[in-house]
Amino acid sequence: MDVFTPEKRSEVMSRIRCRDTKPELTLRSMLHRLGYRFTVNGPKNQHLPGKPDIVLPKHQTVIFVHGCFWHGHEHCPHFRLPKSRPAWWKAKIEANRARDLRNENALRMLGWHVVTVWECALRNKSDLPWLAKRLPALIGKRIGNQ
Ligand SMILES: [Zn+2]
Repeated sequence: MDVFTPEKRSEVMSRIRCRDTKPELTLRSMLHRLGYRFTVNGPKNQHLPGKPDIVLPKHQTVIFVHGCFWHGHEHCPHFRLPKSRPAWWKAKIEANRARDLRNENALRMLGWHVVTVWECALRNKSDLPWLAKRLPALIGKRIGNQ
C-alpha cells in the first residue's frame, strides 16, 4: 500500500526531479548562507534557454549545475566514457555539450550572466569553502567586463 493517495503521489513524484540532486542542494544552501536570493522553480527557471537550475534575478545571473558525465566535463576524473558503445556515448555527450553552449549563448544574448558549477566542485566537502569564496566574484561579474 502506498502511504500517499494517487494525487499526492503524483505531486510528490513531480517534485522529485533530476534537478534536485545532492550537488545542487549543496550549492543552494551555500548561496542561501551567502545571503543570495534566487529561484529554482520560477517562471525564469522554466522558460529561459536551457532551463537554468538557479536564477538570481537581482544579479541578472543564472547558474547551471552540470553533472560531469552528462555534460562532458573535460579533464575531469568523474568523466570517463563507458567501455561499451563509447562512440555512441561520445556522440550523445557531445550533443549535450553543443546544446549547453547554444543555451549559454542564447542567455548571454538576452543579457544574462551565465555561471556553470560542475558537480565535482560540490562533491568534496573540503572544496566547498573555496567555492563559497569564489561564488560572489562569479555572480557579481557584469556582462560587459568578463
Ligand atoms: Zn567534473
